[in-house]
Amino acid sequence: PAPAAVQPLRQFKLDPQSELRVEVLPDATLRVRLVSGTAEIFGTELPPEGWLTIPPRSKIAIFTWHGATVELDGVSESEYTSDETPMVIYVNTHAILDARRARARAAQGGDLEASQGPRVIVVGPTDSGKSTLCKMLLSWAAKLGWKPTYVDLDIGQGSITIPGCISATPIEKPIDIVDGIPLEMPLAYFYGHPNPSINPDVYKALMRELAQTLETQFSGNAESRAAGMVINTMGWVEGLGYELLLNAIEIFKANVVLVLGQEKLWKMLKDAVQSKPNIDVVKLHKSEGVVLRNSKYRQKTRSFRIKEYFYGIANDLAPHSNVVNFSDVSVFRIGSGHQAPRSALPIGAEPVADPTRLVAVNISTDMVHTVLAVSYAKEPDEIISSNVAGFIHVTDVDIQRRS
Ligand code: ADP
Repeated sequence: PAPAAVQPLRQFKLDPQSELRVEVLPDATLRVRLVSGTAEIFGTELPPEGWLTIPPRSKIAIFTWHGATVELDGVSESEYTSDETPMVIYVNTHAILDARRARARAAQGGDLEASQGPRVIVVGPTDSGKSTLCKMLLSWAAKLGWKPTYVDLDIGQGSITIPGCISATPIEKPIDIVDGIPLEMPLAYFYGHPNPSINPDVYKALMRELAQTLETQFSGNAESRAAGMVINTMGWVEGLGYELLLNAIEIFKANVVLVLGQEKLWKMLKDAVQSKPNIDVVKLHKSEGVVLRNSKYRQKTRSFRIKEYFYGIANDLAPHSNVVNFSDVSVFRIGSGHQAPRSALPIGAEPVADPTRLVAVNISTDMVHTVLAVSYAKEPDEIISSNVAGFIHVTDVDIQRRS
């Protein structure tokens, strides 16, 4: 239906294995209530009673396995039901992963390889439903008591902390429909750009650091090891993007590759890992419900993600400001950014920039409105191998007061 200024309370009776797809407006919330039956949003069950407030801009599907009646209250951008979903295939995939987790747990104490649960990597073009499938696989696993690790390599959107990071976090219970991925224990590495092509070597280096840290954690924790990982990736699947996917598969030792919505990519990856019999490359249908977002929209969501980090999804956080002296902080950039001009080089020499070189940055007014990550590194040369504690937004630079 066309958006209206006022929409009355409405009820939908959903047949088994069908879903109600809803797009929430950018400046309004929408309430959802389960009246009877059971239903879930991306793998997390709707509570049996009470209204749930869905944040602005959300695009959701309320899916039911056995039939349900739900109610919507508030204005939406669009809402319609569909009984054509790939959910049965998705849940079957989950069942196979679950069996592998059980096998890994049974092999505990024995050989390391056998006690490693599935390391699933989800790949596909932008808007193929990768993040959504990751959420479902994680929530279904958590519902059964597993604590899988979610790894997000998508620096463009970034569902764990802010865009520009690659990060990981254990998922101990189904992902909250409103609050999203839990933020208590994320392990985040800051890349600082929404696009890997700016410095692919740093992107790769950070993937290696994250993988190594997870490897160490897993070696001391049989439970997380058996539960395995679900890895979300970027929607860039050609050229360098494709190369980075292959890198990710190797670095994180993925053994299940789920390819969404692109036959060609599936074939390419299958051929590429053919010599490794322990990697399964599986093709999955994309859902017609996935909402297409253009690059402008994606850019907007990026800004909102950053805003959400500081103010909370429901605007319930209050970031506090702090004034610090120039002498109390050191700011660095990874990668020299610009190369030495050709004219400054000996004849015949090619300019090379060391992509992972650390450069000390002079604090200036150029820094106003930038977001900086706070590193755990004790020494500058540890920065690239250190995860970050959080982020700060530079609101002002006072050159005179040096603060
Ligand atoms: P990708 O990670 O491949 O870019 P997403 O999983 O983020 O894609 O999906 C894009 C958008 O579509 C998201 O806003 C998501 O919530 C929405 N979406 C996914 N599946 C459905 C569905 N079945 N019905 C309605 N919206 C959906």
